Amino acid sequence: MKAGTQSGERPVSDAEAGFEVGEGFERFSQKDDIFCRSFWDPEVRTSRSEMFYETYRTPELRWRPVDGFTRRDYALRNASWHVTDLFAEFREGADRREGFLDPYTVLRDGPGPPDESDEPEEVLAARFAVELKTAARALGADLIGITGNDERWVYTHAYSRETETEKPQELPGELGNVVVIAQAMDRGLVQTVPSALSGTATGVGYSSDTVVLLAIAQYILNMGYAAVPTMNDTALAIPLAIKAGLGEYGRHGLLITKEFGPRVRLGKVFTDMPLAHDRPRRFGVRETCEVCRACSDACPPKAIAMGAPTGRVYNISNIRGVRKWTTDAEKCFRFWSNQNTDCSICVRVCPYNRDYSRRLSRLWRWMAGTRLRRLALWIDRRSRRGRRVASRTWWGDVRLVGLNVAPGRGAQENRRHPRTE
Ligand code: SF4
Ligand code: SF4
Repeated sequence: MKAGTQSGERPVSDAEAGFEVGEGFERFSQKDDIFCRSFWDPEVRTSRSEMFYETYRTPELRWRPVDGFTRRDYALRNASWHVTDLFAEFREGADRREGFLDPYTVLRDGPGPPDESDEPEEVLAARFAVELKTAARALGADLIGITGNDERWVYTHAYSRETETEKPQELPGELGNVVVIAQAMDRGLVQTVPSALSGTATGVGYSSDTVVLLAIAQYILNMGYAAVPTMNDTALAIPLAIKAGLGEYGRHGLLITKEFGPRVRLGKVFTDMPLAHDRPRRFGVRETCEVCRACSDACPPKAIAMGAPTGRVYNISNIRGVRKWTTDAEKCFRFWSNQNTDCSICVRVCPYNRDYSRRLSRLWRWMAGTRLRRLALWIDRRSRRGRRVASRTWWGDVRLVGLNVAPGRGAQENRRHPRTE
C-alpha cells in the first residue's frame, strides 16, 4: 500500500509535511503503545495504573476533598466518557475494543455500488471532497482534512486485550484515502488541569469523535464506497492529520491546529471513495517551538524534550527512525497513574491554546508566525493566559445571591463559545 494520490495531483512530500523519516525507520505495533503496555508489560503495569483505570469505572474510589478531585469532578469526567465507553465495550466478548484497539464495526458491503459517473476522475474526486466536507460538518466534525493512505503510519499489528499480545491488522489494503477529523476540546475545562474535572474535555472529545466518525463512515457507505472508521486504533493519527492540512507538530508531541491550538482529539476514516487531497498548512509552529519551552518547563515528570528534534527514543513506546520531538511516554503515564486521572498541563500552558474567536488571539497567532515570535511568547507569559483556573471557579461554586445561583465560569464559557471557537 503506497501513499495514495488522485491522478494529476502532486503528491505531498515528507518535507512539505515537515517529517524527517530516516533509514532506521520501523513501523509501529499497537502492542507497544503505552496504554497497551499498561496491561501486558510489568514495567508499566502497577497497582497505581490499575487504580487509575478503576477510577473510570468506580469514581467514588479516589475522590477526595481537594479542588478538582471531588466526587462531582470524577462524576462529570466519567459521564463524559460514557458514550465512547459504550462503543468500546459493546463487542468486548469478541475481543474487540472499538475506537481504542479495533476499528468501529460498520456494514461491510454497504448499500450497493456507487453511481456510474462520466466525470473525469479528478473532477469527481474534487466534487466528492467538497461534498464530504460539507456532510462532515453537518454531522458535527469541527475540522476535517483529506490525505492519501500511507502504510508507514498504519500499525503492523493490532493488540488483543484477551491474549495480551499482537493480533492481525484488519485494515483492507485497497483503501487509498483517509479522512481525518479533529474534535475541539473545551478550553475552560482544560484550564483547570491538573484536576479530574479537566479529563471531561478528553471524554467529551472521544465521545463526539465516536459519533461523528460513525456518521461520516455511514455517509460514505451510503454513497456506495467502503469506509473503516478508526479512532486511536489502526494507525498513528498525527502524521496523517499533518498531511491532511489540520495542523503542525509541537514539541509536546501533539498536533497544533490553527483553529483550536493543541486542544483536539483526532479520528480517521479509511476509504476507497475518490477524494481530492488537502496539503499541509504551516503557520510557524515549528519555529515557535524552537524558542519556546513552556510545555517542557511545566511538565511535572519532565517527559518532554528540551532540545532540538532528534531521532532519540526513550523506550519501545516511541517510533524508531523519525527525527522529531519525542516525549517519554513511560514518565507521562506514570504521572497520570499517580494522580488518578489524565493530564494535559502541556496543552493548558501551550501558547497556541487560545480562543481564536477573539481578534487578539488571531493577532497573537500571526505574530508567532513572524520574526516577532519571541515578543509574542513574552506577551503570552505576561498575560498569564496559561495559568490554572480552580475547578471550583469553573463550577461557580453555587454562590447564592438571594435565591439566585450565579453561573460558574464553565457555564459562562459555554454561553460565549457554544460549540466551536
Ligand atoms: S500530559 Fe502531563 S505528564 Fe504528560 S507530557 Fe503533558 S504535561 Fe507531561
Ligand atoms: S508550549 Fe511552546 S514549545 Fe511546547 S508545543 Fe506549545 S509552542 Fe511548542
